[in-house]
Amino acid sequence: MTQTPPVHPTASTAQGQTPFDRLRRILPEESGVNDKGELTIGGVSVRALADEFGTPLHIFDEHGLRRQMRSLVQGLRERWPNSEVLFASKSMPIVAVYAIAASEGMSIDVAGLGELRLAIEAGVPGDRIYMHGNAKSDEEIALAVAHGVGTVIIDGTDDIARLDAALAVGQTQRILLRVIPNIDADTHATQATGGETSKFGVTFDQIAEIAKLVSHNSKIELVGLHVHIGSQILETEPFAEAVRRVTSLGEFPVYDVGGGLGVNYTPTDHAPTVEEYLDAVVAAARGLLPADTKLIIEPGRSTVARAGVTAYSVVTTKQTGRRFVAINGGMADHLDTALTGQQYSPILADRPTAMPDTIAQLVGRQCESGDLFVDNAHLPHPQIGDIVVLAATGAYAYTLTNNYNGALRPAVVFVGGGEARLAVERESLDDLLRLHRVAAEHDWSTQI
Ligand SMILES: *Cc1c(COP(=O)(O)O)cnc(C)c1O
Repeated sequence: MTQTPPVHPTASTAQGQTPFDRLRRILPEESGVNDKGELTIGGVSVRALADEFGTPLHIFDEHGLRRQMRSLVQGLRERWPNSEVLFASKSMPIVAVYAIAASEGMSIDVAGLGELRLAIEAGVPGDRIYMHGNAKSDEEIALAVAHGVGTVIIDGTDDIARLDAALAVGQTQRILLRVIPNIDADTHATQATGGETSKFGVTFDQIAEIAKLVSHNSKIELVGLHVHIGSQILETEPFAEAVRRVTSLGEFPVYDVGGGLGVNYTPTDHAPTVEEYLDAVVAAARGLLPADTKLIIEPGRSTVARAGVTAYSVVTTKQTGRRFVAINGGMADHLDTALTGQQYSPILADRPTAMPDTIAQLVGRQCESGDLFVDNAHLPHPQIGDIVVLAATGAYAYTLTNNYNGALRPAVVFVGGGEARLAVERESLDDLLRLHRVAAEHDWSTQI
């Protein structure tokens, strides 16, 4: 069980930097190395967290997360006072993050009954909730109306009919109309939402017709337009272009220009900073909009990605046609690489400054060859029991967890100031079995 893999002759790191140095700007802000040489986050040893809470484990740097939220909210407010920053909650929909976002002055964007319910659970006031969705159900709309959701983003005329039916006489609902911006941002096809054939929103020439329909309805108040061009966008120009497009479609009190700012996952990534992004959005808005217009952005990934990491344990290593290091997670808790090809950076919690000497395929334990975490991972002598930390998994990781291969969803823990608090419990086998009508209730073995 203590077999170690042979050393790969060509493994090396750039400029003699340690893995910790190379990943310093990818790892959470409050990352460090303690006097035992272990990786720490929020002043807590990742090894100690893994021992206490088990692996796979999502770990969030609460101070770093709060600072990032402030830089978005305050950064936009300084540049455009009549503004609002919505946390695009699908990127990390857990009660703790809804509560933290609300406490840092963000409003919340939800899509679907579950996200709405989680936001309500976190105590987010209705007037700070924005409800999205390209296929909203009657039940969702009813809950939105009952909770007093401030703004519903309309995706087509069916939404208007449903809302009209849900609203009592005398009740009113603010809406934004989502329009297809016709911008093909340079990102993975599954993450582009702004192209002509997008399933989200209505076309430019449908706006007037919908505005007219709504103007005859005293319960529904159209306050503005919404666009969202896609996700993991690594340049600022498409955001400026989105502002120019949406503001050319008529005069409204509110423009919501969506989310999509990309983040750094590997040392070779250079995403725009929050400041560069806000500068581009606001510069585009300045020439086109009166200063009292409300400007809204909806950052998801860029709000949470860097604050989160995932810790896994090495289960096995082997050399066949290639060298493999297999960890105790996979597509069930980390779907993003299989879904979008996004590359992530690994580091070992016990020796973050040790120089890599091994190149291996870092793979998961689900039964798919595509269940790959990192292609050609550079690691220092990886062995059974090592804790592998994947950096920048705060967005689109926990939210995409599933029970493939009967996997159990990981726990989520928040760290800061040397303390850890559990935010979401690890799923148990009882949780997994709870929904199934098992043998005691029905005998599935004898029916033909
Ligand atoms: C997903 C989504 C966002 C957030 O996108 P990020 O790339 O995570 O910033 C914002 N608005 C809408 C409508 C979305 O669907």
